[in-house]
Amino acid sequence: MPAPAHIAGNPSWLTAQQRELIDLASTLGRERFAPRAARWDREASFPFDNYADLREAGLLGICVPQAYGGLGADFATYVMVAAEIGRHCGATALTWNMHVSSAMWSGFIADQLEMSAEQRADHERCRAVHYARVVQEGKVYAQPFSEGGSAAAGKAPFGTVARRADGGYLVSGRKIFASLSGAADYYGVLCTLDKPGATQRDAMYLAVPADAPGVSVDGDWDPLGMRGTVSRNLTFKDVWVPDTARMMPEGLYFQAAMRFPHMFATLSPTYMGLAQAAYDFTVQYLRGEVPGMPPVKRRMYPTKQVAVAEMRIKLEQTRALFLQNAREARVDPDRDTRMRLYAAHYTVMENANDIARLAIRTCGGQSMLKSLPLERIYRDSRCGSLMLPWTAELCVDRLGRECLYEPGERDEVIE
Ligand SMILES: Cc1cc2nc3c(=O)[nH]c(=O)nc-3n(C[C@H](O)[C@H](O)[C@H](O)COP(=O)(O)OP(=O)(O)OC[C@H]3O[C@@H](n4cnc5c(N)ncnc54)[C@H](O)[C@@H]3O)c2cc1C
Repeated sequence: MPAPAHIAGNPSWLTAQQRELIDLASTLGRERFAPRAARWDREASFPFDNYADLREAGLLGICVPQAYGGLGADFATYVMVAAEIGRHCGATALTWNMHVSSAMWSGFIADQLEMSAEQRADHERCRAVHYARVVQEGKVYAQPFSEGGSAAAGKAPFGTVARRADGGYLVSGRKIFASLSGAADYYGVLCTLDKPGATQRDAMYLAVPADAPGVSVDGDWDPLGMRGTVSRNLTFKDVWVPDTARMMPEGLYFQAAMRFPHMFATLSPTYMGLAQAAYDFTVQYLRGEVPGMPPVKRRMYPTKQVAVAEMRIKLEQTRALFLQNAREARVDPDRDTRMRLYAAHYTVMENANDIARLAIRTCGGQSMLKSLPLERIYRDSRCGSLMLPWTAELCVDRLGRECLYEPGERDEVIE
């Protein structure tokens, strides 16, 4: 059996920390997550056992700054580790992303943004509370921002509101598709500060305890793919949280969204991993090496060789853009970098499903039996380009506009 390809292509350029964490994710993925993945998918249940492993390995704190006891991983490190996890269990990687993003946004992203000295001191005080929960208590954060309207697409203020009250806030509203609903300890809710004339600039990011009075989970969860994410609906009814619930100072989320757009590209690593998994499976299958299957080889047919070559080409194209994106993440990227980011995100999301489609076509009928992982990979990979704020459609919208218009340029209205 050939050694499986490294998720980062050639690992020789990686830092010691990157190599170590990707190896750790690979071991956990192969030995623990992959064997359990069918269960979460079949039951549409949350992968609690995988979270116990992530906790024990210190990976819940991967993006918590080292000064607060975390591993202090940067953007590139995180996305490669996440892709390696996605290679073995899509639902674990996707939900872990929601958790990790809370530390990433409040951590190295917030560190690069403008704040007054007073805001900075306040942010240190608040994030110390959140990081201690993650690092010392192993708590898990979710990230519900979707509401079913235009807010999650970044085109309107969030309908969920936070009203200042008694040294904190009262949160009210409803979120849909909240991954980790009923499983997370805290919901990192994106909402709007309740004040006259509030706009998107007044977005807030508040951690609401899952067991606070006024929080409820509803709706069923029986989707096509990513079933282990358990993304049900959340309702917040006058839920009081203290001021330390702020994951970012008031107004900072808007600045982050404008100045650090790569923060929205953390959903694609999961799908990079799924693309790799579909390819890995195909090679194993055509070589007659899938555990539990008769050792029938199919690799000698030229059509299979052509198809697997096509998959590898697509996979390497996807990886190249994925890694380029990982390296380019920074505050205030220039316009070309931003356009490359849309192109990379679109490519990963669309190609993951296309590579999985090719895998099933190439391996054939027996490969899509429920006893094998490929049909789950195919269904999971379908979900990527549906995810806001950067669905495949919205990436195309943004890219098309930016290709053809300079900032501020408008068309003349012809009467
Ligand atoms: C497995 C899974 C897990 C998820 N987990 C989370 C989570 O943890 N947290 C979370 O907040 N969300 C989560 N989501 C939700 C996701 O990001 C979307 O909000 C959700 O899929 C709703 O999509 P929709 O297609 O119904 O959206 P709709 O609002 O109906 O939009 C349909 C499509 O129209 C386009 N569109 C929407 N608004 C605009 C606009 N203003 N201008 C132009 N085009 C627009 C977009 O391409 C969009 O795909 C998850 C989704 C999935 C599938």
